[in-house]
Amino acid sequence: MESLDLMTKIVSLCKRRGFIFQSSEIYGGLKSCYDYGPLGVELKRNIAAEWWRSMVYKREDVVGIDASIMMHPKVWQTSGHLSGFSDPLVDCLNCKERFRADKAPKVAAGTSVTFKKGGKANGDALTGAVPAHGYVCPVCGSPQLSDERQFNLMFRTNMGPVDPLSEFVRDAHGKDMTREEFRTKLDEAVRSTAVYLRPETAQAMFVQFLNVQQSQSMKIPFGIAQTGKSFRNEIVTEHFIFRSCEFEQMEMEFFIEPGTQNEWLKYWCDERMNWYANFANKKEDFMLRRHDSDELAHYSDDCYDIEYRYPWGWGELEGVASRTDYDLSRHAEASGVKLSYFDQQKVDPATGKPGWRYTPYVIEPAAGLTRTVLCFLLDAYSEEKGVDHEGKEKTRVVLKLHPRLAPVKAAVLPLVKKDGQPEKARAIVAELRRHGLNVSYDEQQSIGKRYAKHDEIGTPFCITIDPETITSDTVTIRDRDSATQVRVPTAKAIEIVRERLESLA
Ligand code: ATP
Repeated sequence: MESLDLMTKIVSLCKRRGFIFQSSEIYGGLKSCYDYGPLGVELKRNIAAEWWRSMVYKREDVVGIDASIMMHPKVWQTSGHLSGFSDPLVDCLNCKERFRADKAPKVAAGTSVTFKKGGKANGDALTGAVPAHGYVCPVCGSPQLSDERQFNLMFRTNMGPVDPLSEFVRDAHGKDMTREEFRTKLDEAVRSTAVYLRPETAQAMFVQFLNVQQSQSMKIPFGIAQTGKSFRNEIVTEHFIFRSCEFEQMEMEFFIEPGTQNEWLKYWCDERMNWYANFANKKEDFMLRRHDSDELAHYSDDCYDIEYRYPWGWGELEGVASRTDYDLSRHAEASGVKLSYFDQQKVDPATGKPGWRYTPYVIEPAAGLTRTVLCFLLDAYSEEKGVDHEGKEKTRVVLKLHPRLAPVKAAVLPLVKKDGQPEKARAIVAELRRHGLNVSYDEQQSIGKRYAKHDEIGTPFCITIDPETITSDTVTIRDRDSATQVRVPTAKAIEIVRERLESLA
């Protein structure tokens, strides 16, 4: 399968089967905004639940929080997001594309390149030399580009009953001001009530460090985990839900003793790689990549990306960073609150005396939930050639989602809508639901079409009710991946589904 073709198939399947729709589609959609449909919401929730289970429920040293999306603006001032959370924005002077300089195709400065006028296929061929910045337009390949300018990625809004723009207009109306003065006054007016949508979930874990540590009597090393929405006004949104302005993250801040960061960084890289491997069909499509020293953020002393082999190439899925004591120290300094930890058992290395107060170091595994949805959809999609019961060639599309991630765990299918079969099927559905499983009762269309639909949405088991069920209390249970069926007593079928899902927990 051509790799970009795969992306088209995933987007189409997502819409057709109810995983992901374009937001506000009837009005033409809103760029890069998506709604998760009945199956997508299940898949997304299952991924988040598995992350939470492995990060929080399975451990004694990590607890969770759910912080508000809007935080005090000083949080973002202190974290550096207000001044530094920006991307280099460039305009192509040839085709007018706007793009990120750091993601543009690199071409050595001075190289002579050819490109089409206006970026049009039938445009005249032009030639130009790549200037000192060493990249070209990602769309038309032109080296004729604007200067880079920094574009802040934070979404800003205003809190309170007063509209700062109305206030500003009232104050500024009729006053003689230069363009610069006008701009400064406008900025001041807007900033006075400005709040920001969080661009990451992580900062809440730093500013709530003391509350969590003290209320839960946590001892270092310990972590605080959170999943939730984040917002970035991305210059380029791309590849469906890979990069969007509104997305969800799964982040954990693990607070450790200074000096232990190398071993904990390795530990969390291994943990997170194993987590993906546990759910993946193709483990070879996941890799760890260490950041080069010139890639490291200024506060980070080491960092790895967990990358996935997307149809367009390797790209980030999760970052695992050693963030030193940067965040806690900055927030302590700005707020005046001591964000430190006292360990009675340890000797202070500076004084050699018992009892050590220090600012913890942090290891941060930061994953994208919505990006992981895309990654597992890509990993699960498969097409299998075969023949139908009439001997005709056909292609079976199977979404080989890990059963714990699958939106529907089992489909219960009466062969016909009479002879007591629907009643029997509904009784099985009720029993499976009693065990907390999301299962589906499905009596529409031919049995072949129903199997095809459930293969395509990744339902691991189909339980079929036929005339024999009524006489012998047996059903057939069909395995999605092998498409093989076995006849078993009804109670056994329920047990198989439950045991299979629990054994994978
Ligand atoms: P990228 O290099 O792709 O822009 P990043 O390094 O800015 O990502 P982080 O700030 O480390 O990303 O965020 C942690 C994770 O959040 C990323 O690995 C990714 O999975 C997810 N993420 C970040 N930005 C977006 C976005 N705009 N849309 C979807 N997911 C995102």
